[in-house]
Amino acid sequence: MSYKESIIENNKSKKDIINFEKASFFLNDRGIKKIPSELRKPKLNFNNEPNLLRRITWRLKEDSQYFRNVVQISFALLVIWIGIEFYLFIKWGESGGSFPYFGRPAGVEGFLPISALISLKYWFQTGIINEIHPSGLIIFVAIVATGLLLKKSFCSWLCPVGYISEALWMFGKKLFGKNISVNKFLDYPLRSLKYLLLAFFVWAIFWTMDTEALKAFIYSPYNKVADIKMYYFFENISQFALWTIIILVLLSVVIKNFWCRYLCPYGGLLGVLSWLSPIKIKRAESNCVNCDLCTKACPNTIKVHKVKTVWSDECTRCLECVQACPVKKTLEF
Ligand code: SF4
Ligand code: SF4
Repeated sequence: MSYKESIIENNKSKKDIINFEKASFFLNDRGIKKIPSELRKPKLNFNNEPNLLRRITWRLKEDSQYFRNVVQISFALLVIWIGIEFYLFIKWGESGGSFPYFGRPAGVEGFLPISALISLKYWFQTGIINEIHPSGLIIFVAIVATGLLLKKSFCSWLCPVGYISEALWMFGKKLFGKNISVNKFLDYPLRSLKYLLLAFFVWAIFWTMDTEALKAFIYSPYNKVADIKMYYFFENISQFALWTIIILVLLSVVIKNFWCRYLCPYGGLLGVLSWLSPIKIKRAESNCVNCDLCTKACPNTIKVHKVKTVWSDECTRCLECVQACPVKKTLEF
């Protein structure tokens, strides 16, 4: 019996990868395929490079997930830095000026998306950029632009909440051996929740607020200190809010990206914009060996191996699938 025959014989019912290292055969219910040697991706061992700097540079170039983690960590550190600066600014304000002065970091306005949405409509209607929280509008527009160009990349590359969500489900997988996969009959209605929340905000701002109402909100005492109120909300967090966060954290440990997939309206907005994005993951059917590794790697349970182009609004362009694909020029964006 040939090696290939023995693979088929021993794995008749198994949908699995067979001895990729040795022969690059792939067997599943759609038959067996072999990767042509010229299309086989080389296996890289970064530890073979003794020079640390060269090793890091090489890995940043070749390992998209390593590069993504570096970007995520850098952005998380930036957010922590903004948080510390903002904390020191508030302590200066509370001390009546006796504490050393720290300026308010503009980046904190990135956490005021509703104010930014109101500023956006005001800008469209009057041509005036909100003078109270201008950075909030600029950050919002920049994130929307990334959605138009690079799908939901913001979620998997920059968003600190996305980073925490990813860390939580990975922790859950380590702890329990796997994450819970939500039945599609429950998954679809749950996924629509973030769009309902988004629709509510869009309706409340774009349909019900005229220019006067927008201006009144922007220059209201509440909006002027909205970032400080947000700080006090977390400093004096209520039992209800605390338990809500704890429950969301626990759900995120057992279900991949629970918050991002089901509840985040920002993600919903980027998901809608992602359909317009020209940069999508594409699968070259002629090269594909049907190993399904791409689908298994996808944290958003997208059936990458079944489509020619990934249109899904859940695709965060994390590139896990591209990295997992063992065949050159097969999954690309
Ligand atoms: S399809 Fe690929 S890029 Fe999109 S979320 Fe899944 S693994 Fe990431
Ligand atoms: S596209 Fe997916 S199924 Fe096809 S070879 Fe690559 S990883 Fe395997």
